[in-house]
Amino acid sequence: MYHHVKRLMYTVNVGTPEPRFGNMLLEQFGGANGELAAALQYSIQGLNCDDPDRQDLLMDIGTEELSHLEIVGTLARMHLKPMKKSATAAESDPLVAIAGGGGATLCNSMGTPWTADYLKITGELDVDLRSNIAAEARAKIVYERLINFCDDPGTKDALQFLMTREIAHMKSFAFALDSLGKKPFSIGQIPPTPELVDQYFNDSTGVGDHGERDARGPWNSGNGWEFVEAPAFGEIRAGEGGRAEGKSRSAHR
Ligand code: MN
Ligand code: MN
Repeated sequence: MYHHVKRLMYTVNVGTPEPRFGNMLLEQFGGANGELAAALQYSIQGLNCDDPDRQDLLMDIGTEELSHLEIVGTLARMHLKPMKKSATAAESDPLVAIAGGGGATLCNSMGTPWTADYLKITGELDVDLRSNIAAEARAKIVYERLINFCDDPGTKDALQFLMTREIAHMKSFAFALDSLGKKPFSIGQIPPTPELVDQYFNDSTGVGDHGERDARGPWNSGNGWEFVEAPAFGEIRAGEGGRAEGKSRSAHR
């Protein structure tokens, strides 16, 4: 059950309203990485969660995100307010000014309506937790950019709070994933095909005009990796040389 307390989670003070910045703030209201998307993603994951402890976590953070939606919506409303009367202010976001009356609307900063397609809900707890860690990272970086484009100290202060909470959530989701005790890279029940799972395909080759140098790192060397040279060319060479077996993807099907 939800209960609304008529008080913001964090006090919002706006010195000089900036309608153009109010429009940017809508990205965190009705955008892909915004607070409504976060609130609904975690709450619906929680609704579907069979693990009572992690369900509690998902519902706690989902509910906190609703409080963030209220903060960022209040911030946007305060910055958009001049649009109610000033034609110059209205020009910074005609959709919000004309259709929305200068209030927060459920769109992103470009006026694209919010969509449930933003939500990542798979019904597999560890997969959902990974999605949530990535979602928090995206929300954090969007807040950071908003802070960098903001001149108003009161607004910056509220955004700093919201940005910090995203890292707090990221920590909770990361520790929750860890607490499941799953082996690294183990997703679902069906094991991946041995050998194939340890092959790195060097699918971009050449230097200079033909491509970049081949970079090597822990993503393709050590850690049990087998570095497979240009599987596509391997198939061509195999075709040219009669029936020779190329080290290609098809060889393992
Ligand atoms: Mn949030
Ligand atoms: Mn969050």
